[in-house]
Amino acid sequence: MSEFTGKVVVITGAGSGIGRALALNLAGQGAKLALSDLDTVGLAEAVRQVKALGAEVKSDHLDVTQREAVFEYAAAVVEYFGKVNQVYNNAGIAYHGEFEKSEFKDFERVMDVDFWGVVNGTKAFLPHLIASGDGHLINISSLFGLLSMPGQSAYNSAKFAVRGFTESVRQEMLIAKHPVKVTCVHPGGIKTAIARNATAGPGEDLDTFAEFFDKKLARTTPEDAAKTIVGGVRKSKPRVLIGLDAKFLDAWV
Ligand code: NAD
Repeated sequence: MSEFTGKVVVITGAGSGIGRALALNLAGQGAKLALSDLDTVGLAEAVRQVKALGAEVKSDHLDVTQREAVFEYAAAVVEYFGKVNQVYNNAGIAYHGEFEKSEFKDFERVMDVDFWGVVNGTKAFLPHLIASGDGHLINISSLFGLLSMPGQSAYNSAKFAVRGFTESVRQEMLIAKHPVKVTCVHPGGIKTAIARNATAGPGEDLDTFAEFFDKKLARTTPEDAAKTIVGGVRKSKPRVLIGLDAKFLDAWV
C-alpha cells in the first residue's frame, strides 16, 4: 500500500517521455490511471506497460487543444472511475526558431498546446478535484518557464504563462479553502523525444537543435524526472525543479 493506492490520476501526453514515466511510476504505487495522448501508438505502448504492472487504466485519444473534447473527457473519466484525485497537465510540444523569422501560426500552435492545453485541462478537471476532497493539480511548465533562451520565444511565452497561471490558481485554492493542492513543475534537460518531435522555424535545422538538446542539455532520465515530480507531489510542494540548474542555463542566456 502507498498513499497513491486507489487514487485516480489523469495524465495528458502519457504516450511518451515524462508522461509515460509518470504513469509507470504511479502504476507501480497502485494508482488508477486515466491516460491520454494525441499519439495513439505511443499511448498504446504506455498502456501495455502500465497494465503489465497490474494497474487499472482508461486510455483515450485526446488533443488537449480541443476544449470541448477536454471537457467531455473529464466527464467521461469521472463517470468511469467515480472520482479524480490528481491531474497532470503534461502534454507539450517544442518549437525552435528566431522570433524575427517566426510566423504567427508557429507561435499560436505552441501557445495552443503548451498554454491553452494546460488551461483547458485545469478548467475541465478543477471542479472534480475540488469534489474529490483531496485533489492535486500538477501543471508541467519548464525551466524555460523561468529562464529565457534564444530561439525559444514561443516556448518561453507558453511556459512562463503556465507558471503564472498555475501560481494564481494555487493561491485561489488556498484563499477559497478548497481541498486542492497545486504544483508547478519546471523540468529542464530530460532525455525524451521532445526536441526530435519539435518543429523548427525558417532557416533552423531541427537536427542541429535536437543534437544540441540530446548531447548538451538532456542529462536526466524520464524515470528520474518522474520520481522527483511524484516526490514533490507527495510533499505538496508548490514548485518542483528538475534537471539543469540555473547556473548551467546562465551560460546560454
Ligand atoms: P515528449 O515529446 O516525449 O512527450 C510529449 C507528449 O505530449 C507526446 O506523447 C505527444 O504526443 C503529446 N502531445 C503533444 N501535443 C499534444 C496535444 N495537442 N494533445 C495531447 N497530447 C499531445 O516530451 P516530454 O519531454 O516528455 O514533455 C512532457 C512535458 O514536459 C511537456 O509539457 C514539455 O514541455 C515539458 N518539458 C520537458 C522538458 C525536457 O527536457 N524533456 C523540459 C521542460 C519541460
